[in-house]
Amino acid sequence: MSDAILTLNAGSSSIKLAIFDLAPDGRLSSWRRGDLRETGDVQRFRLRDADGAGIADETWNVTGFEASLSRLTTRIGNELAGRRLAGIGHRVVHGGAGHRMPERVTPDLLDMLEELAELAPLHVPHNLAPIRAIARDQPDIPQVVCFDTAFHRTMMPVARRFALPRSYEARGIRRYGFHGLSYEYIARQLAALSPRIHAGRVIVAHLGSGASMCAMRGGTSVDTTMGFTALDGLVMGTRCGTLDPGALLHVMRQDGLDVDAMERLLYTRSGLLGMSGISNDMQVLLESRETAASEAIDVFVYRIVREVGALASVLGGLDALVFTAGIGENSPEIRERTCGQLGWLGLDLDAAANRRGAAVISTPESRVEVRVIATDEEAMIAEHVRDLPMLAGDPVQPAGPNR
Ligand code: ADP
Repeated sequence: MSDAILTLNAGSSSIKLAIFDLAPDGRLSSWRRGDLRETGDVQRFRLRDADGAGIADETWNVTGFEASLSRLTTRIGNELAGRRLAGIGHRVVHGGAGHRMPERVTPDLLDMLEELAELAPLHVPHNLAPIRAIARDQPDIPQVVCFDTAFHRTMMPVARRFALPRSYEARGIRRYGFHGLSYEYIARQLAALSPRIHAGRVIVAHLGSGASMCAMRGGTSVDTTMGFTALDGLVMGTRCGTLDPGALLHVMRQDGLDVDAMERLLYTRSGLLGMSGISNDMQVLLESRETAASEAIDVFVYRIVREVGALASVLGGLDALVFTAGIGENSPEIRERTCGQLGWLGLDLDAAANRRGAAVISTPESRVEVRVIATDEEAMIAEHVRDLPMLAGDPVQPAGPNR
């Protein structure tokens, strides 16, 4: 019987999953990808093979999280046929100040993470729910939590601190940064693709529904655009990004909005959707002829350009810019419009390479190399599960060349 690793990424209305085959020499290969999404009153479960070909598209008439999860684990169990689950890895959005590395799940750890949920109440409870359920129903399967904040543990205090009275920092009110699993994956890819660039000053632009950028030196995080929550920084699909806190106070006072109403406004009604009034989806906006759509895209690009300047300044220069995630990987137009405003950094885009989606899209003369790298947070989680010592007694061998 061969071994496999399952990864789960549970959000508010969907669970993304991936199954990786784990070879005896420790090599991981993607085998299945899928998701379970709430659509109206029903759940839609989709599964693809390693090449992206659909192998299941099912509508499930189940209500409630427990019932959905139970059906999901049964479905995955059937799918595994002949494979043993060596471990399950979970993405947890917030690890607070104390959880800076992937950790094996224990009852104590779960209790600690439950307390941390107040730092990210919209995300962490969703992340933890399947872990608890699996720990209860299948206690023999090792589970590992991987924190989105962990990659940014290398940020200096000066980058982490808010200019609030000191006591707030002691309560955990500081900048953490997110999208860490994506950045860690990109840093590892860069190390393999170009050790020189990896060792240098790099900005990675993770542009998806959520969007942020990370300034890296030597493959570690120096600063990032997200802060205490995943609301800060760039314009996102439905999130506002950086905002003058004074504007919030003003709107709350003028409109009599309470905290919950404000939270809905900032997380779900703002960003590209709020500005355009059309869609949170960049592809839809790029195809639209409405002025409001192009104005929303203008702000999206402007803020990226502005933040590249800030992060390049923190790094003391720039050797490479990497685009990743849905928009970064798939939109030549957004890449071109962004890079077009970064000539002052010595960045020279190769327009043809950009349009055909090449891996390197800068000219050979460009002082800043520009790359497009597909991110894979699931693969990063699976690597962490494999690399935790808990599997030491299993048939996994010490580090192979691909680690
Ligand atoms: P998440 O995983 O955070 O939901 P993704 O990384 O999948 O998000 O990114 C989703 C975004 O990528 C959407 O705004 C979508 O429109 C955009 N996107 C995907 N393909 C393209 C494309 N070809 N051109 C422009 N935008 C695209």
